[in-house]
Amino acid sequence: MKINLLVVWAIVLMAFSKNSQAQEFSKRVSDFIETQDSVIILKNALLIDGTGGALKPHQDIVLRNGRITDIGTAGELQLPENVTVIDATGKTVLPGFVMLHEHLFYAKPFDNNFKAVHMTHTFPKMYLAAGVTTMRTAGSIEANSDLNVKNAINAGKALGPTIDVSTPHVEREGFIPQIQSLYGDEDIEKWLDYWFVKGVTSVKVYNNITKEDLKKIIAVAHARNIKVTGHLCSITYREAAELGIDNLEHSFMAATDFVADKPENQCVNGGRSLLELDENDPKLLDLMKYLIEKKVTLTYTPNPFEPFTDREVVPGGAAEALAPYLLDQMQTIYDQNIATKDDSLRTLAFRKEMKRVLKFHELGGKLTVGTDPTGSGKTIAGYSNRHLIEMLIETGFPIEEAIKLATYNGAQYLGIEKETGTVEVGKKADLILIDGDLTQAISNIRKTELVFKNGVGFDSKKIFDSVQGKIGLD
Ligand SMILES: [Zn+2]
Repeated sequence: MKINLLVVWAIVLMAFSKNSQAQEFSKRVSDFIETQDSVIILKNALLIDGTGGALKPHQDIVLRNGRITDIGTAGELQLPENVTVIDATGKTVLPGFVMLHEHLFYAKPFDNNFKAVHMTHTFPKMYLAAGVTTMRTAGSIEANSDLNVKNAINAGKALGPTIDVSTPHVEREGFIPQIQSLYGDEDIEKWLDYWFVKGVTSVKVYNNITKEDLKKIIAVAHARNIKVTGHLCSITYREAAELGIDNLEHSFMAATDFVADKPENQCVNGGRSLLELDENDPKLLDLMKYLIEKKVTLTYTPNPFEPFTDREVVPGGAAEALAPYLLDQMQTIYDQNIATKDDSLRTLAFRKEMKRVLKFHELGGKLTVGTDPTGSGKTIAGYSNRHLIEMLIETGFPIEEAIKLATYNGAQYLGIEKETGTVEVGKKADLILIDGDLTQAISNIRKTELVFKNGVGFDSKKIFDSVQGKIGLD
């Protein structure tokens, strides 16, 4: 066989210029890579590093072989020469988001209910394009698909974040046909082990299980070093904390602790009791203290609870991504809801929850965030993750804290905070370059320019452009 010297030379050159630890990517992935050089300098950026510490203006950040190796004030660092330099003047650098209530399905509305439709090809890449470098699914409708997507991403064959895949929603009955996984008296341990062996790394329990179920689930999961989260209803927050649950979804919005005479092990509507619950109510403060004592993390998910009136038809600027038939549906749902009594109640519930979440945080409670792309179908992966940051500011968090909630806190919950979750020397180069100053306008969060995952820089706009008009189709 005759060896083409030009080809050999090209390979040698590539070996020197590309990240030496870089993995191979399929064309589906490499088409969206802007840079994967072994040394990259982001020059003169405004840095919000995810630690909750003060903003750092004019920072040079050096990425080397997928790691952050140097950070310093522009002009003070000894920078390597002849490497890729990205001028970040007037731009903001953040850690990649670590969000904990994500899904690979879309909640397609139908007759006041919804059908969970898997967005296997679009959602993972949209999460990444928005800056999510790590996510946990909080409930899987097609757990096998979720695992396959995770593996394809890890193998460089598909675009997306690193995924902590959860079990299917552990549920006995309910109004969503696809969310029921336990029947009769099957062995919960065998059921969980089936998923753990396949690669599931988190457990999600749902509305209608018993305390006896939860006790078993926690024992089995914890024995395998796996954490349990729940969107509860039949079990109160206090009961779940007592049983040792790790995480509760939807902050206080799913608490049935304040329903008078709640029957044990039965799901009841807690909406009214929450509308009357102020952030300084002694009953609530008592529960908050108990959750803190039991080290229970709350995941704050404002997106699916966002009211309609005076808001975008499809929040986060996601209208452009929807298939036309869905956009029509969203407009109809919006028109039916604006300026209604229901929506003013929704607005009240939304505002009250913001105050309760701030209070929990102020008392030292552990908070993480996630988007939960369900609700009435207007929470769209990626777009909603950026919009969540806007809503954290609306909630009243200072920008440094908002970014920490969306980055470090998620990493800490997942036990990966030594590797990712902040922009600090030694960590993986998981970070976001925003084309604008986030302190000037929080809406600049929508101007994602590059997303680095393991030091590989992806072109955010190109990814978003590739899914326009496709959501609801795949
Ligand atoms: Zn969910």
